[in-house]
Amino acid sequence: MQKSILIAHPCPRCGSEGGVYAVKNKKDGALWAYCDECDTLWETIDDIQNEVYFNNRSAEFEWGGYATLEEVKEFGWGKYIIED
Ligand SMILES: [Zn+2]
Repeated sequence: MQKSILIAHPCPRCGSEGGVYAVKNKKDGALWAYCDECDTLWETIDDIQNEVYFNNRSAEFEWGGYATLEEVKEFGWGKYIIED
């Protein structure tokens, strides 16, 4: 099974040690950040830091699954990847 890519830890909203993962927006292929504990989405890395929250029904986001390592690097988020 594909490993999810961790980009923030712990989750700034719920404090989950599970952390925040890179996920794909089916609508335009962009990556968003997602915490599966509190079901929160962030559109950008800045949004995570500035505590800008979207819920899972955000009109601009359609679930496209977790992003792969290659997709995260291609999107320019490689520097945010947190190794286990
Ligand atoms: Zn959370």
